[in-house]
Amino acid sequence: MSYDVINPATEKIVTTIEHFDLAATDAVIAQAAKAYDSWRHVAPSDRATLLRKFAAVVASHKEELAALEIANSGHTRGNALWEVDNVVNVLTYYSAAPERLFGKQIPVAGGVDITFKEPLGVVGVIVPWNFPMPIAGWGFAPALAAGNTVVLKPAEYTPLTAMKLGEYALEAGIPKGVFTVSPGKGSIVGNRFVTNPLVRKVVFTGSTQVGKAIMAGCADQVKRVTLELGGKSSNIIFADADIAKAAGSAPGAVFDNAGQDCCARTRILVQKSAFDSFMEHFEVAVKKFRVEDPSLATADMGPLISRKQLDSVQTFLDEPIAFTGSAPTGPGFWMAPTVLMPKNTQARSWREEVFGPVVSVMTFEDEAQGIEMANDSEYGLSGSIWTRDVGRALRVSRAIETGNLSINSNSSVRFSTPFGGFKQSGLGRELGPDALDSFTEVKNVFISND
Ligand code: NAP
Ligand code: MG
Repeated sequence: MSYDVINPATEKIVTTIEHFDLAATDAVIAQAAKAYDSWRHVAPSDRATLLRKFAAVVASHKEELAALEIANSGHTRGNALWEVDNVVNVLTYYSAAPERLFGKQIPVAGGVDITFKEPLGVVGVIVPWNFPMPIAGWGFAPALAAGNTVVLKPAEYTPLTAMKLGEYALEAGIPKGVFTVSPGKGSIVGNRFVTNPLVRKVVFTGSTQVGKAIMAGCADQVKRVTLELGGKSSNIIFADADIAKAAGSAPGAVFDNAGQDCCARTRILVQKSAFDSFMEHFEVAVKKFRVEDPSLATADMGPLISRKQLDSVQTFLDEPIAFTGSAPTGPGFWMAPTVLMPKNTQARSWREEVFGPVVSVMTFEDEAQGIEMANDSEYGLSGSIWTRDVGRALRVSRAIETGNLSINSNSSVRFSTPFGGFKQSGLGRELGPDALDSFTEVKNVFISND
């Protein structure tokens, strides 16, 4: 079946691709299972070299991949270039892993005990449309490094850069079947990763609703699963903070990628005594946030991914609006950054993941109330704390139930540090030194002295 890929900034067709059906999905899974027999036995240093070559081929296509992501996803040029770099960096980081997959030697009576980190087999990676390249790389790079083979399903809206990455892997000399991209529907291709017993692990990033169904489906085969799901993260600003700095960077913390970011700080919590000062600076920063043709180097934000997403985000605009930024009119799924002042913490915009350029601001009295309001959510992915008081920064960061926090900063993701969620924001961690544990099983071997 063919599928028209749409440019969200123009609503024009970028290209038409063929979707995989069930039989084609089973065929690539079978091919990946066959490739696993030899890939797992490639010498560690050779696997490392192949991953570095893969990184080099991706790097050599930086402009091409960025242009494709701008056209397919409406990402700003600045973001798209960062995203290609992220794939290169993640591949390079994990290219060091095959030679460092250390086991242990454990003291025992009557012999020697050693552990091995064995690969799992075929890993299925299911990617959402919000960050097509990075999220793909966070799955496939450590999986391949640990000796697994990978089948990857991009989101329907955004398959183009993933398909290119599949080609570049072959160009780099990674054997056929080791890394295969299979575009298609979640209900067909994605679901087959869950039900086909040759797939030993599913890495899923997307909505909490689909994530729960995948976890339930994987239970049937006790299939390993990593989940990166939604978020409702807080940007907590204490009165003692550098208010101008906190307010100046707050738009980027929520409107980056048009708010279509699981780490978006969609709740801004400002200590009451600093509220007026914060809002004054914040309004200036929101009005300066440039929403425009994403291919321009000056763009801070592009369009949303689809008409459907735009309509879904608009339903959150039923609370008092403090102020908005601006956005282009005409074709494209455009929306102005919007700042809401919800009447209470039961407002949908305060409780639910918006996945669009909408942020809600509320005040708190003291540290205890700030923590309580931030933790009043089933999600727990990310967040920021702004304060000059080191003790408070430590107390609050230990108290917030979330996987990734930044103090006096809004950055969430570094390829060398762990990333993942508490509560219904996910299960397991990606990136950083420990991600390999998610792509290996520990095998214990006892060797008798006899
Ligand atoms: P989604 O349905 O969870 O999609 C994520 C990925 O899962 C896509 O590749 C999708 O394929 C696939 N999928 C869908 N149903 C599946 C199934 N039954 N079995 C296996 N795979 C399946 O997310 P969405 O519909 O694109 O977005 C809906 C909402 O999810 C957003 O508004 C946002 O709130 C949230 N979201 C969160 C993140 C995040 O990073 N945490 C990312 C994206 C979306 P298709 O492309 O064919 O649907
Ligand atoms: Mg969906």
